[in-house]
Amino acid sequence: MIKGDEMLKRISKSSHYKYSISLLLFGTLVSSSLSAAFATELEIDMADLPARDQQKLQRWILSGKTAVELSLGKLPGKSIKFELVMKPSANEPVPFAQVIRGGTNTIRLQVNSEWPLQDFVDDWTLYHELSHLYIPYLDYPSFWLNEGFATYMQNIVMLQNKVIDKDGFINILQAGFNRGRLNTISQPGQLSMVSNDMWRKHAYMRVYWSGAAYFAEVDALLLQRGSSLSQVVAQYSQCCLTANSTGSELTQKLDKIAGTNIFYSTYVQYAKRTDFPLVPLEQLQAMALHYGVKP
Ligand SMILES: [Zn+2]
Repeated sequence: MIKGDEMLKRISKSSHYKYSISLLLFGTLVSSSLSAAFATELEIDMADLPARDQQKLQRWILSGKTAVELSLGKLPGKSIKFELVMKPSANEPVPFAQVIRGGTNTIRLQVNSEWPLQDFVDDWTLYHELSHLYIPYLDYPSFWLNEGFATYMQNIVMLQNKVIDKDGFINILQAGFNRGRLNTISQPGQLSMVSNDMWRKHAYMRVYWSGAAYFAEVDALLLQRGSSLSQVVAQYSQCCLTANSTGSELTQKLDKIAGTNIFYSTYVQYAKRTDFPLVPLEQLQAMALHYGVKP
């Protein structure tokens, strides 16, 4: 996802840091990392950051990876590159981020490294960007699936990793759906058409949150069958992930893995939608119960 539209600073290549996840850097991360065969290697370029903040930001990246892998399984690919760029005046820890897809996927993060570690951990951006890597880059009319998946999963990851609690999860999703509903009034038309022209129209909230509603609806149906979205996508990312695809192909493939018709039939409905979907509170509560820790 792109937060804001600032130009990224050029990254100095003078010092380059390369870490393997299996390095014994931080106690709690080590046991789970070492048990994963063929763990995804992280390459972290922090040359732009003050030396005093670099270890803190390493810890953030590593804990983000661990959190996302707890929900979705091993990150796809042999390695992932992170480019951290300093934005000293930012009034939030991570004002801008984007995924650059390629042979090695790169996640560019603009950061104000002066913020405490906990504020980085509490920020949703890293969970969102890492979630993007589990499904292919899709055709623009289906782009609501890309952004919807990352938007929905960032909250599942945060709930499962206790960054937020069940009430926080429900509140964040309801507030997002409200923003999506408001944006649907100013950005009418079929979701696939609006999605195709999201950047020009500034229809971000409609596209992101309609997509999140799609995955919430699909996940609720899967949970009723004893499966879950995270399980199906974890399997997909290991067996079948491609760099590019279409919404139609992806949803049919996910159905094949799940043994259902839920992904594709709901996709066809949503692509034509002109309204904003209603996600009942009971559905959000069922998800919070499944993914959250019982009180
Ligand atoms: Zn995104």
